[in-house]
Amino acid sequence: MSAKLIEGKKISDQIRAEIKDEVAKLKSSGIQPGLAVILVGEDPASQVYVRNKAKACEDLGFYSEVHRLSAETSQAELLELIGRLNAQDSVHGILVQLPLPKHIEEKAVIDAIAVEKDVDGFHPVSVGNMVIGDDALLPCTPAGVIELLKRTGNSPAGKHAVVIGRSNIVGKPVSLLLLREHATVTICHSRTPNLAEVSRQADIVVAAVGVPKLVKGDWIKPGAVVIDVGVNRLPDGKLCGDVDFAEASEVAGWITPVPGGVGPMTITMLMKNTLKAALGKAK
Ligand code: NAP
Repeated sequence: MSAKLIEGKKISDQIRAEIKDEVAKLKSSGIQPGLAVILVGEDPASQVYVRNKAKACEDLGFYSEVHRLSAETSQAELLELIGRLNAQDSVHGILVQLPLPKHIEEKAVIDAIAVEKDVDGFHPVSVGNMVIGDDALLPCTPAGVIELLKRTGNSPAGKHAVVIGRSNIVGKPVSLLLLREHATVTICHSRTPNLAEVSRQADIVVAAVGVPKLVKGDWIKPGAVVIDVGVNRLPDGKLCGDVDFAEASEVAGWITPVPGGVGPMTITMLMKNTLKAALGKAK
């Protein structure tokens, strides 16, 4: 392997140490950042995510509350809880773990979260503010990608970034954040012809597709930075990304591993957003 590894875990630990310092400072002014997490139903993966979020709160000295609701909870009951949390001073951030059971409309739930507590960054007003470049709570995984680039000295400014994937939670927002950081951005998706050729033009490739090892070594320009957002479970139970790591790491200049690359950044950026929301209250 010739590429340098972008060590997401290490960078995430650095950011968490910075957050811890800020929390200690805030305490003297009587404010403790608080996060409320809502889980509806018993999806096993969601349960793990929620546990990890509560653990991160505990490690960083945040106040946290986890609301575990049954899969039969009605949309009205969920919206009522969100309304209460919107008004609760000890809670600066509200996160509803997705996906929700089919009978609950995701959009209605996201729209109900107060914008200043929208630590997932999915509320249409948060998204709009991000697009126009105003101050906003940014979506966590895309913001984590930008941190990884900046903290490894790979500023996107003036670079050609190719993003593969255009979902609302990763591809689209990461493209907009790269644009905000002055990259020239190409967004690719399932209808993009000649994907390998487009990818080969990139100084920075961000893969957020959900297809194991889609991005091959010959899709990468020598020396390029490769950020692999994908998390895919292989039949043998191992995790792998959307990039063929063995091949791409022989060509790239920098590359994220899976696991241990983008993954650890997501919860850390959630904590950073909650701190930011609490600081907003401290003004
Ligand atoms: P998604 O909603 O399924 O979107 C996938 C995107 O990839 C779509 O825009 C789709 O194009 C495009 N696509 C699918 N197959 C393609 C192909 N063969 N060639 C080119 N484009 C293709 O997925 P997502 O939620 O963005 O997640 C993407 C990956 O990131 C998944 O592996 C997910 O597990 C992972 N993820 C990781 C984190 C983390 O914290 N590390 C967070 C979120 C997601 P169309 O729009 O044309 O359908």
